[in-house]
Amino acid sequence: MSDYPKHWKELAKTIKEKSDWCCQKCARVLRPDEKPQGRTYLQVHHWNRDPSDNRPENLVALCPKCHLSYHRGGKGNVSVGQLSLFDISKF
Ligand SMILES: [Zn+2]
Ligand SMILES: [Zn+2]
Repeated sequence: MSDYPKHWKELAKTIKEKSDWCCQKCARVLRPDEKPQGRTYLQVHHWNRDPSDNRPENLVALCPKCHLSYHRGGKGNVSVGQLSLFDISKF
């Protein structure tokens, strides 16, 4: 996590707000204000798996289920060849 910028939290919030708090893969809505403890389960994913690359086009809001499937190389639209370029163990 040390590669994440200090403003990551804010940045992630911006991405989620831009996505209407909606998973960009399955369209599930995960608004933080609908969670009793104010927790949000929406996560922000880096398309190129590089946490230091925080350009808006590299970031996408995903629910944990879809996020995991991308990192597992399962049903994502990232090709298997592309996935092997990245070390997914640190995520
Ligand atoms: Zn989803
Ligand atoms: Zn991710």
